[in-house]
Amino acid sequence: MRFHIVTIFPEAFESYMRESIIGRALRNKVISVKFYNPRDFIKSKNKNNYRPVDNRPYGGGPGMIMRSEPVLKAVEKAIPKIKNKKKILIINFIPSAEKFTTGEAKKISEKYTDIILICGRYEGIDARVDKILQQSQNKFLKFKQLSIGDYVLTGGEIPAMILVDCVSRQIEGVLGNFDSREEERVSSSEVYTRPEILKWKGKNYKVPKILLSGNHGKIENWKKSRKGKIYGKYKK
Ligand code: SAM
Repeated sequence: MRFHIVTIFPEAFESYMRESIIGRALRNKVISVKFYNPRDFIKSKNKNNYRPVDNRPYGGGPGMIMRSEPVLKAVEKAIPKIKNKKKILIINFIPSAEKFTTGEAKKISEKYTDIILICGRYEGIDARVDKILQQSQNKFLKFKQLSIGDYVLTGGEIPAMILVDCVSRQIEGVLGNFDSREEERVSSSEVYTRPEILKWKGKNYKVPKILLSGNHGKIENWKKSRKGKIYGKYKK
């Protein structure tokens, strides 16, 4: 899986993508990540020696808007780099769009070879970018808007990292044990490890007895009873 990230802050990804499971997947070349900075597609500098990627909004209002041309040029630059132009998905992050889920991550990992992620900033990106990308869809190239949740962040970089992380763990070779994905087994967010009795500020906190019982059937049922709905159906 190749991720192509359109962002004016590529450095924001560095430390997260160096570490742990995603870092290892990148080093092992199971996934790859490339960056395309819209600022690199602006020739002229303003009086402050700066390449302005934003401009004032039509219709007034606070904040600035990301200009369409540098974003489109960055996206275009990402497309020819895709060797096998077969399964390309372009995603623009919009807080109010359809929610990204583990189910969606699984679908993306199975259907596409290359994902282009557009990270907005300021008040968002000129809406004509999405119109143009919508129109340029064909059987090899798809476009969609996604949100990572009902809250507004300052930019699309964290949503992009979330998507890269969540889609990557659906790819064989990324997790140490592919079948350890939570959505493929019975797991619970309520987990315990040693010691069996935690002594904390004069109180004892015990591990639930059922987890010490050795009865795997009962333990699975206990885990199911504590599981939320986020992962969808179990395989079993
Ligand atoms: N004015 C925009 C609106 O009302 O929808 C919000 C812009 S937000 C401050 C700047 C950028 O952050 C967005 O263009 C988007 O790329 C990203 N963003 C913020 N919250 C997000 C979320 N919940 N999901 C996905 N992207 C988000």
